[in-house]
Amino acid sequence: MKVQFLGAAGTVTGSCHVIEACGRRFCVDCGMHQGNRAIESRNRDTRAYRPRELDFMLITHAHIDHSGLLPLLVREGFDKPVYCTGATAALLRVMLEDSAHVQETEAGRRMAKYKRRGLKSPPPALYTLEDARRAAALLTVVEYREAFAPAPGISVTCYDAGHILGSGSLRLEIAEKGESVSLVFSGDIGRKGALIVRDPEQPPGADYVFMESTYGDRNHKNEATSAGELAEAVAYSHARGEKVIIPAFAVERTQEILYCLHALNRDGRLPRDMPVIVDSPLAIRATEIFQQHYELFDDAAKKMLAGGENPFALPGLRFALSSDESRAVNAMPGSAVVISASGMCNAGRVRHHLKHNIWRPGASIVFVGYQAVGTPGRKLVENIKKITLFGEDVDVAARIFTINGFSGHAGQSQLLDWLRPLAGKDTRLVLIHGEERAQTALAGLIERQFGIVPHMPDYLEELVLEKGRAARSVPRGDAARPAVNWDFLTGEVERKWAIFKDRLASVREKPWEEQTDMEEALARLDYAVTRLLSRL
Ligand SMILES: [Zn+2]
Ligand SMILES: [Zn+2]
Repeated sequence: MKVQFLGAAGTVTGSCHVIEACGRRFCVDCGMHQGNRAIESRNRDTRAYRPRELDFMLITHAHIDHSGLLPLLVREGFDKPVYCTGATAALLRVMLEDSAHVQETEAGRRMAKYKRRGLKSPPPALYTLEDARRAAALLTVVEYREAFAPAPGISVTCYDAGHILGSGSLRLEIAEKGESVSLVFSGDIGRKGALIVRDPEQPPGADYVFMESTYGDRNHKNEATSAGELAEAVAYSHARGEKVIIPAFAVERTQEILYCLHALNRDGRLPRDMPVIVDSPLAIRATEIFQQHYELFDDAAKKMLAGGENPFALPGLRFALSSDESRAVNAMPGSAVVISASGMCNAGRVRHHLKHNIWRPGASIVFVGYQAVGTPGRKLVENIKKITLFGEDVDVAARIFTINGFSGHAGQSQLLDWLRPLAGKDTRLVLIHGEERAQTALAGLIERQFGIVPHMPDYLEELVLEKGRAARSVPRGDAARPAVNWDFLTGEVERKWAIFKDRLASVREKPWEEQTDMEEALARLDYAVTRLLSRL
């Protein structure tokens, strides 16, 4: 049996694990890579996925970094069942369409940009609405805790991962060559005590455990105070007549924020004249799906419902569905809370809200979820002073809040708690879905506490799994990380700079209008180099 890591290996996005067993080839998750351009270029190279050779797919939950490449694989010939829970299927139907819409919009923008510059053939949309609809038709609903067999010899059971509505940890029993091997894929593990969803459920032990490690290096501080911190951010900008921008994943995080604002309002801690705007068509549709799946809520939320209280209702709540309504939010004077996606500010309407508000003293930007390396959100929580939005450098004058208590992920000690009942002496552990620092810290603790040395795979790495033996990595010829050719680029810059200096005498001969034009171009170059240096 073999497993290949096509994402979430040393990173938190692009989750996809391709398994070859019982003569079948299938994957657990099929996520989009998110981050800077080099990371996102992985979305365009689908050779390793071999979509036509996949026999089925298992999806742990609806987040795009676990599901977002499904329409692309469908476009490239995948047409087999995709197994997931009912709530995940309901969310995926709207999320994949939304993702396709984002892809098409961005492709349209690129097309216009290329035309303006006289360039040909911009990269097309990753996939279209039609691809997303065809992908949605493949969704096949399974129940929690009911084993199903997607192929002879392969049995799968889904347990509630407590991360978002419908999220699952998967346990696979694979019978091959007279032997049975069990695998657990944790999926994203939720935080105990999170609002709305139930606490994570423990799957039974397994020979191999593939565990997420997003917060492997830290615990969530002050979880209990997060409602208070949100109230503080709201009060800060309300007093200054400015806006509170909350970049949030449209699914789960937005509903948790609404739920929390609802509670603040009930306790009289939300200013009466403060409108709350959800500016994400996806979040609006996702909230409707939440309202159809009350059976998956935790006891506190169910109690609220039983008392006739709608946990997502607020007196000043408005929804911005169209892009005109979204633009109107920015023209609206005065203070307001604006919840908008994407959660990491790498795409979507929230970027417009940042552009209009981030340079305003008194405004606040409130981060409520994990910010992956390379994303604008990550730069902001690391206190960058200027941020590039739509090609423009914008000053960061707004106050940046990072609230941990809304995290959808287990913190370090909760990850260890989750692992404890699974960590037998023969258990092989593979850490996925985490950045290197988080994984190294968690691996050290796991080794000390459980005597297990976890494996931390590289992007594209292949592991051979054999019962009772350590996983063996298949040697690879090509490098999984993109090579950065510093020597070539620095050489080119130096060569061209020498040519410019050589010709400076002739530049001085030119008419002054031309000289000032060129001076301007050189000043831009100087600025670009200054910015580059400021990052060293
Ligand atoms: Zn997730
Ligand atoms: Zn994830």
